[in-house]
Amino acid sequence: MATAASSSIPPSAQQFLPPSSILIVGSGVFGLSTALALVRRDAFAQTSITVVDRSDPSQPGTFPSSDAASVDTSRIIRADYADAAYTALADEAQAQWRKQDKPTDLGAQGRYHEAGLLLVGDDTPPAPTAAPPASQDGLKPKLTGLDYARMSWANVVSLASKDPQLAARVRELPSPDAIRDALGTGGSSGSWGYINNNSGWANAAASMNWLFDQVKQTGRVHFVPGTVVSLERTGDTVTGAKLSDGRVLSADLVVVAAGAWTGGLVDLAGQAVATGQVLGYIDLTEEEQEKLAKMPVILNLSTGLFIIPPTDRVLKIARHAYGYINPTTVTNPPLPLSPSQPPAPQTPISLPRTAATHPSLSIPAEAAADLRRALREMIPWPALHDRPFTKTRLCWYSDTPTGDFLIDYHPHWRGLFVATGDSGHAFKFLPVIGDKVVDCIARNCPAEFREKWAWKVTEAKAGLPVNVVTEDGSRSGKAGVTLDQALAEDSQREV
Ligand SMILES: Cc1cc2nc3c(=O)[nH]c(=O)nc-3n(C[C@H](O)[C@H](O)[C@H](O)COP(=O)(O)OP(=O)(O)OC[C@H]3O[C@@H](n4cnc5c(N)ncnc54)[C@H](O)[C@@H]3O)c2cc1C
Repeated sequence: MATAASSSIPPSAQQFLPPSSILIVGSGVFGLSTALALVRRDAFAQTSITVVDRSDPSQPGTFPSSDAASVDTSRIIRADYADAAYTALADEAQAQWRKQDKPTDLGAQGRYHEAGLLLVGDDTPPAPTAAPPASQDGLKPKLTGLDYARMSWANVVSLASKDPQLAARVRELPSPDAIRDALGTGGSSGSWGYINNNSGWANAAASMNWLFDQVKQTGRVHFVPGTVVSLERTGDTVTGAKLSDGRVLSADLVVVAAGAWTGGLVDLAGQAVATGQVLGYIDLTEEEQEKLAKMPVILNLSTGLFIIPPTDRVLKIARHAYGYINPTTVTNPPLPLSPSQPPAPQTPISLPRTAATHPSLSIPAEAAADLRRALREMIPWPALHDRPFTKTRLCWYSDTPTGDFLIDYHPHWRGLFVATGDSGHAFKFLPVIGDKVVDCIARNCPAEFREKWAWKVTEAKAGLPVNVVTEDGSRSGKAGVTLDQALAEDSQREV
């Protein structure tokens, strides 16, 4: 049936008429929080809401799938951003994370730990082993990791200045020794930094279970396990989604929140691509866990390497980098950039490759060596130096050139909205991002994010660039390396 959302895109919030049905593709942070926010808005009281998510073959029917970016042991929760708009939004989110009085509060039952965050950078960034990424037209000036850390420091100091209690918990660390003292493991990293004891980390999987429960309890959302293979369309209108088993789910508005997989469904024309990031997990003894109980999160923005305090005797080491791209030729081309365009030719798109679909997948050796380097630098305990990773993982960002999210109506297809482009930092917004997505659906996007989150590509720029280089200052490493290249280098080394 035709509604304002499907038959004509209303130009303003005043003219917005809620659609009678919404289909959300993907149940990660973006998808599930949007579902919850829709249910809580009176304006959508008559709207039927469906969430569809592809299943991990080993855990069919789970929401979200276990290889989603939103599912992991831990995620950093920080308002420490170089961009003041994200600092303010994260501050809003942190007020929710800190709620721990009742077991049902988001931050309760071990879901949130305010352990502090040590944010550091190196004076001289490590020499890149490949040509540094060229700066792209129209982007913010290229920042270094140290620039990012200093701008973030200014933003959190300004935020904390409104409350003496918060201010006392932010401290500059002007030297490697000061960083070592604050870290408390005997290790250090970076030449300058600060500690923000108002930041911390969340148990990501447990928080997603909490969010899923919140949505389920409303009784308003219909969950469908299934893999969307293509979007259904009639003329210039998207009318639903087709699943791999042939079923079709119809809706007046389709919200694609498929994380790093989004480019496989909608031609994003280089606005966001999947980049693979690496993680390693090491088992600890009870005594080691106890010794690290008070360590803060440490993130070096020049190397991208970070360690999150252990939980359940598992220590996580990770790298926030340009990441690997994974050019993939898809059987069903994504929805073209506009109805007047033919389906995109069989150009490869960077899409995730995960252990759920490739069980023998492991991280490239150069990445494992980098994680090992972080461990030795940040926790220099001989007993840990060579302890094998019990597990490694490739986890996929939906990366945009500026690191801004992509939350907007599609400019050329009626009935289509995208909520993606997480750029590796959206988890912390779990309690607030759904509300902002719904604001944007209602044509009332927050002014400070209107441009940042807008669909930016015109028809003239149609195409499927495989690579996007995120230049928000927080990334390290080589840009544009494919996962296959990195894995091939491993096998050459073994020969
Ligand atoms: C290694 C790593 C570390 C990170 N660290 C932090 C951090 O410290 N702090 C922070 O704030 N953020 C962090 N992030 C980022 C954060 O996890 C992501 O921004 C966020 O989880 C993205 O949520 P999403 O909903 O966009 O995507 P996802 O969580 O990936 O959800 C997408 C969902 O869509 C489903 N889907 C995909 N394709 C289809 C299809 N065709 N049909 C049906 N369903 C489909 C998937 O199964 C999945 O469940 C990190 C991310 C990674 C990978």
